Formats: sequence, structure tokens, C-alpha cells
Amino acid sequence: MSDLKIAVVGGGGVGKSALTVQFVHSKFLADYEPTIEDSFRRQVKIDEKVWMLHILDTAGQEEFSIVNDTHLRKGDGFLLIYSIIDFASFSEIPKIRSKILMIKEETSNVPIVIVGNKSDLEKQRKVHLSEAQDLAKSFQTPFFETSAKTRYNVDEIFFSIARMIRNQKFPE
Ligand code: GDP
Ligand code: MG
Repeated sequence: MSDLKIAVVGGGGVGKSALTVQFVHSKFLADYEPTIEDSFRRQVKIDEKVWMLHILDTAGQEEFSIVNDTHLRKGDGFLLIYSIIDFASFSEIPKIRSKILMIKEETSNVPIVIVGNKSDLEKQRKVHLSEAQDLAKSFQTPFFETSAKTRYNVDEIFFSIARMIRNQKFPE
């Protein structure tokens, strides 16, 4: 069985841990310790083949914490999360993406999926769907809105990034 390594990154409080725990354990965590950085594993089947997903749920809010994080260098692909009710977390997406590309010493060829989480909180929305779609299009990355609370699109984002990594690491 081959390994696919996913790092979950983004601003503090956007739901990185909630999405990861929902994907791995099928439950919604209302309050996960914000400073905990942890790794999780889940076995998945993609096109009849079994893969082990290694998921690094990152923590740390300072701007440069990601760059210094040696774990991230080992990430094969990245789920780049913001919260649809927190515009600042969306503004950070291009910066975080640039840092990832710098860490990976690539100009564009790193598997990345952009994710707007907390879609269940529609009434508090601060980030329009269309502006996020435009950003993702400009980066040529897949884009999803999700809810860790309702489990909306949670499997989809992990399978999407897993497929991108597989296609790159294990081309047929
Ligand atoms: P992290 O710092 O990015 O790991 O964020 P957490 O996963 O710890 O989530 C921060 C807070 O937002 C917690 O209180 C979560 O319960 C809440 N939260 C996370 N995802 C969602 C979501 O999709 N919907 C709602 N309503 N709350 C969420
Ligand atoms: Mg967390």
C-alpha cells in the first residue's frame, strides 16, 4: 500500500481540525484545542486501489510559522482552508500558496485544493462564492465549499487532493 501525504493549512479557527476529524472519525468537534498539531491516517480506495492517507493537521497562526514547519516540506499535497465567515482568512490564501510553492521549490506544480469551510453559516457569510471561484481559477486549482459540521463535501476535498497527489506521484 502506498502513502499519500496531505497537509491541512490555513488561518487559525477556519476548521482545519474539524474537517480532518470529521473525515477520519466521522464526528464534529465543537472545540478542538487550537494549538494542537497532529497527524491522522485513513485508508481509502481510489479506482479499486487502496492507499494510506497521512494527514497533517497544522496549527500556528503567525505568518511565517508555515515556512518554518519542516513537516510541511514532506506534504505531497495541500488542502488550503479559509472560513467563509472570515474574510481575513480568505485574504491569506494567496500568501499561503506562495509560501507552499517556495517550500516545495516549485513554481506551480504542487497539488493544492482551495476550501471555503463553514458553509452552514450562510447568514454570516463574508466571502462570496464567486470571488473564491475566481481565485481558484486563477491558480488553476480545484475549489470546494465545505462544512465540517454537516459533513458537506468533506470526503470530496480529501479525495480530490488524494487523486491529484496520486496522479503526480504514481503516474500510470
Ligand atoms: P482550526 O484552528 O483551523 O483547526 O479550527 P477548528 O477546527 O479548531 O475550528 C474552530 C472553531 O470553528 C471550532 O469551534 C469548530 O467547532 C468551528 N467549526 C469548524 N468547522 C466548522 C463548520 O464547518 N461549521 C461551523 N458552524 N463551525 C465550524
Ligand atoms: Mg486546529
